[in-house]
Amino acid sequence: MQNEPIKDIVIVGGGTAGWMTAAALSTVLNGRYNIRLVESDEIGIVGVGEATIPMIQRFNRVVGIDENEFMRETMGSFKLGVEFVNWGKLGDRYMHGFGRLGQDLATVPFDQYWQKMRRLGKAAPLEEYSITRMAAKANRFMPARRDLPNSPLGDITYAYHFDASLYAKYLRKLSVARGVTRIEGKITRATRREPDGHVDAVELEDGTRVEGELFIDCSGFRGLLIEQTLETGYEDWHHWLPADRALAVPCESAAALTPYTRATAHKSGWQWRIPLQHRTGNGHVYCSRFISDDEAAATLLANLDGKALADPRLIKFRTGMRKLAWNRNVVAVGLASGFLEPIESTSIHLIQSTIQRLVDFFPDRGFSPVDRDEFNRQTRFEYERIRDFIILHYHLNQRTDSEYWKECAHMAIPDTLRRKMDMYRSHGRVVRVDNELFSEVGWIQVFEGQNMPIDGYHPLADTQSESDIAEYMESVREVIGKCVGVMPSHDDYIARTCAAKKM
Ligand SMILES: Cc1cc2nc3c(=O)[nH]c(=O)nc-3n(C[C@H](O)[C@H](O)[C@H](O)COP(=O)(O)OP(=O)(O)OC[C@H]3O[C@@H](n4cnc5c(N)ncnc54)[C@H](O)[C@@H]3O)c2cc1C
Repeated sequence: MQNEPIKDIVIVGGGTAGWMTAAALSTVLNGRYNIRLVESDEIGIVGVGEATIPMIQRFNRVVGIDENEFMRETMGSFKLGVEFVNWGKLGDRYMHGFGRLGQDLATVPFDQYWQKMRRLGKAAPLEEYSITRMAAKANRFMPARRDLPNSPLGDITYAYHFDASLYAKYLRKLSVARGVTRIEGKITRATRREPDGHVDAVELEDGTRVEGELFIDCSGFRGLLIEQTLETGYEDWHHWLPADRALAVPCESAAALTPYTRATAHKSGWQWRIPLQHRTGNGHVYCSRFISDDEAAATLLANLDGKALADPRLIKFRTGMRKLAWNRNVVAVGLASGFLEPIESTSIHLIQSTIQRLVDFFPDRGFSPVDRDEFNRQTRFEYERIRDFIILHYHLNQRTDSEYWKECAHMAIPDTLRRKMDMYRSHGRVVRVDNELFSEVGWIQVFEGQNMPIDGYHPLADTQSESDIAEYMESVREVIGKCVGVMPSHDDYIARTCAAKKM
């Protein structure tokens, strides 16, 4: 029997998670539900999520955001991948570029032919077969030319860098215009009803009581409802991902705006560099067992493009996930549901995919346990697979200059990651399981970029003659080179389409 629809939705928190949820639900639910969002200016937001992955384009499309306006409003720049410096060995440099590697030739994927030719000493570096990697290296950018489907120019995959606080503000304006009611105030407690223990209201400092049927907890690390009220529990993964702190600082921009994030490994962590139109965002993610906050700050400040624009801000975190992202009538989104460190810029994507899942399993007043369980199963799967990919970056290193990296190289890893590594070592194969986020191409670039030794390649790569493969690979490389040559510089593209007003 169909239950009654719920009417009142309360979103707790107005960071990136809260306002993305408000924007999406106010669009998708078509004005049929009463959506209220409670946030506290006094508490503020984390405000450091600045790099994204390509799926965010889909989110922006669904909520009806115009790309150029969005880029102007958030001081955005384009992102073609992440450059990793010093991750395999000191001095190594590679990029995890978005999009495809090469072009399919015959029976097996392009990278298998590359593996074969590499053994013969006849392959160029892997990056030369990727348009995004070569464009990033040359500081060039343009979106895909959909009118050229057979050219690498028709296949440019990208994401964005943006100022997270401005993104939240932009989404807030949009959501309020679509009927979301914003309530400013500090929540002091949540109340629960009998007999099912559902949260029925949150109470604010000024005595206001905000009642609801579905609560979406976007309150950040504190997990005001999911943890402080429902005591859901947290699964801690710091034994696999030991970094537990970050220091963030903006600095003046470098001369040219680079269309990629940079992640530079230091002795006890790594540093991000995210170029925006008005400044560069930087942060040092590190493990407090190996380095003090002062030393971490000194390392960060010694590796900036320009003058620091503020004092470094300390953020403490615990990598892991909430045991249930959906508990009773509370769905946790964003940092309230868990945290995976930002090396592959996955947190905002996790917000997006959780919202999508909430829409897929949107409840009525019956709050079906079957739907809730499936939501939780899918959330766990997604988190665990991303976790494995992130652990790979740490575990697959050959650095001998620091205890931290040595510990990472020798730590026990999850069985699911072990299987992926064994499979790659055997014949360079990557099997993408179900809907896991990172594709074969993502894994291959990290395996290769961090020097994973492999025993062999796909036997069917030998069904094509060496000369045919060589000729084909060379033509792919040449075409990519020519295509990059006609792309505008990243700076020029932004100046022409989406330059923000000078601040
Ligand atoms: C070091 C670091 C780097 C990161 N880098 C990236 C990145 O590059 N890419 C990426 O995708 N993600 C990144 N993230 C993650 C990203 O910052 C978050 O996913 C994103 O900002 C979402 O945060 P949130 O909205 O869940 O929480 P918050 O930003 O913490 O927002 C919480 C909200 O809850 C409200 N609130 C809390 N308590 C109360 C209360 N009692 N009463 C009323 N309101 C309350 C607050 O006022 C605020 O509005 C990074 C995170 C960290 C820690």
